[in-house]
Parts: sequence; structure tokens; C-alpha cells
Amino acid sequence: MGRLGGVVVDQARKAYGTVAALKGVSLTIAPGEFLALVGPSGCGKTTLMRAIAGLEALDAGRVMFGADDVTARRAADRDVAMVFQNYALYPHLTVFQNIAVPLVMRRLNAWQRLPLLGPLLSGGAREKIAADVRGAAESLAIGHLLARKPGQLSGGQRQRVALGRAIVRRPRVFLMDEPLSNLDASLRTETRRELVDLHRRVGAATIYVTHDQSEAMTMADRVAVMMAGEILQVGTPEAIYAEPADLRVAGFVGSPRINVLDADTGPDGRVLVAGWDTGLQGLGATHYAVRPESLVPAADGLPVRLEHIEFLGESLLLHTRHEPTGAALVARLEPQARKSLERGQALHLRPLHGLLFGADGRRVRSLARSPALV
Ligand code: ATP
Repeated sequence: MGRLGGVVVDQARKAYGTVAALKGVSLTIAPGEFLALVGPSGCGKTTLMRAIAGLEALDAGRVMFGADDVTARRAADRDVAMVFQNYALYPHLTVFQNIAVPLVMRRLNAWQRLPLLGPLLSGGAREKIAADVRGAAESLAIGHLLARKPGQLSGGQRQRVALGRAIVRRPRVFLMDEPLSNLDASLRTETRRELVDLHRRVGAATIYVTHDQSEAMTMADRVAVMMAGEILQVGTPEAIYAEPADLRVAGFVGSPRINVLDADTGPDGRVLVAGWDTGLQGLGATHYAVRPESLVPAADGLPVRLEHIEFLGESLLLHTRHEPTGAALVARLEPQARKSLERGQALHLRPLHGLLFGADGRRVRSLARSPALV
């Protein structure tokens, strides 16, 4: 059993009355990996984390840490550190004491914890705890705040104290459930980077729950996309973005959202959108999806009408309507394209890379009939 082993969740099921929160979830997190678990509200993320932590008993399935089956083990015996959105710190304790709590509980017995007698009985254990607390605080840049109480800290600083309390234990597994959602936007971006750095140094398998797909994509080694109690896809951020296995994954990841048009498949397997030839062949395709940055103006493209132009600085978003079907289509272009565009104008947008999906939402393998078109 490696201390820094991975985590395996095998066919986990959990229902609350008639609500199936986990419908047979299987997931593997490699040793030292940072995995982001992302999905809309209510999809079962917190339930899965609580099951891994041992705070929620599964109806069926197993949780393994390395070669250890921990399914029946209580939370206190799993060696998991958790950081939640509500980082409950003890208000009457200093930052130092807050970070030290798990070490005091674990390393000192009841006698050694006594304020006056304790130091005489604890050998070097208290000094070791103090050194570990200082080390964790330094690595989070809160070393200068150790004497303060939580009420004297900013939200970001409190968040770091909660992180310090989690890392100081050197856990086998790190679980973070929306830990940054209380921070303002700029602090959140900064803290994201710090968390990734911290993870590299701590090295424990980490599962990071968020409903913010951009947070998941920028931080994680791999991303697991969860919806309605199921994991739809697990992969690197690049794979999830470029090769989504399911239309719901394609729609959840990427901003602005991927464009989706209804498609028909001809008897010869040609995929058409309102008669327009996509250049692809795919059996059973009912949807043709294309990312905004993959649409370029070209005479042989999809006929659209330009409704609105959004200038974002580094790019332009064209909000258009596909004329034959009335479907909304958003294209992302270079800002220089602005000069030649006008609201209300008719133009053609050609997808450089389209994805096909079937009626069940699953990806349909596509073949390019003409390489020039794909
Ligand atoms: P959020 O992002 O909003 O926190 P989530 O993805 O973490 O959502 P869960 O909290 O895991 O979702 O909830 C999954 C489903 O189980 C939801 O439908 C929720 O209402 C239900 N649920 C969660 N906990 C309980 C409970 N203790 N009793 C009854 N139903 C519950």
C-alpha cells in the first residue's frame, strides 16, 4: 500500500429515497493525479466526494485507496483531507491553532493536550507540530498571520488557513469541493495557480469538485464530467474539449457554448444540415456541432444572418442565425474582421471541424468524404 496511492471508485450507487444520486459511478484517480470533477448543480458531485471521504455510506460499490478497500472504513480512518466551500475555521483559535488542530488531535494524547502540563509530557511532539504548522503556513504565504484570529482575515486568507489545515496532515487523498467559490474573481484566478503548485508539492491524489468548467479545464490533469448521477467522460482537458463523447459534454465544456444544428443522414451516409453538405459521413447522425472558433467566413459555408457583434478585445463574437432553420450560431473571429462586418448582413460560415452526434446524444464516428472540407 503506497502512501501516495491512487483512488478507485467502482460501481458506486447511492439513492436518497427515490433520487438516484449515484447510478453506478466508476472512476480511477492515479497516484499524484489532480482530477477535476465537473458537472451542473445536483448531478451528484458532493455525494461522490462524501462517499470517497467516508461521510456517506454507499448502497452498492466499492472505494479503494491504492490496494486498500476502504468502503467499510469510517471517515476518521481513511486519511483523507477535505476542503469545502464553507471552510469552517474555529473563530476563537488563532491561525496557528486552527492549522495545528488535526496534528494535535492525531499526535498528542489527552494528557499531552493539557495547556500547562502538556508541554512537560509531550517530548518533542509539540515542537514538531509547530514546525509543521509553520512550514504549511509559509508554503501558503500566511506565515505572518499565525497569531491572528479568523475574524481578522480576508476571505482569501481564511481560505488559505483552511488549506493549510488540510495539507499539514499530509493526507493520502485530498478532496476539495468548490473551495474557491467564496473568493472574488481575481483572487480565485490567483488561488487556482497556487492550488496547482501546492498539489505538485504535496503529491497526494486530488479530486477537485467544481461546477465551473473553465476552472476544471485550467487546473486539472484530467477532467471527469458528471451529469445526473453518471460520469459521462473522463479525459485530459484537451480530449474533453476536442473529442467530447456526448453532446451534453460538448455543451458543458467551452465558452461560448458549442453550436448545435439538427442534421439528417442521407441514404449514402452523407450528413446534411438543412440540405447543406457537411462533407462528413456518419451513420445515424442527428446533430452536427461546431465550436465558435471553428467557424470561418467562406462562400461555401452555412448561410447565416449577422444579428449582433460582440467585441472582446482579443476576439470578436458574431451572433448569427442560421437562415434555413433559425438556429443560433456563434462564431469567434479575429478582431480585425470587424471592419468588413455589419449587423443584419447575410454571410456564410464554414465549419473547419464539425462533430456528429446521434439521437441518444452519443458521438457518432465521422468520416470525411473530402479531406479538403474537414
Ligand atoms: P451542487 O453543485 O449543487 O452542490 P452536486 O452535484 O454536488 O450539486 P449532490 O449534492 O451530490 O449534487 O446531490 C445529488 C442529488 O442528490 C441531488 O438531486 C440532491 O438533491 C440529492 N441529495 C443530496 N443529498 C441528499 C440528502 N441528504 N437527502 C436527499 N437528497 C439528497
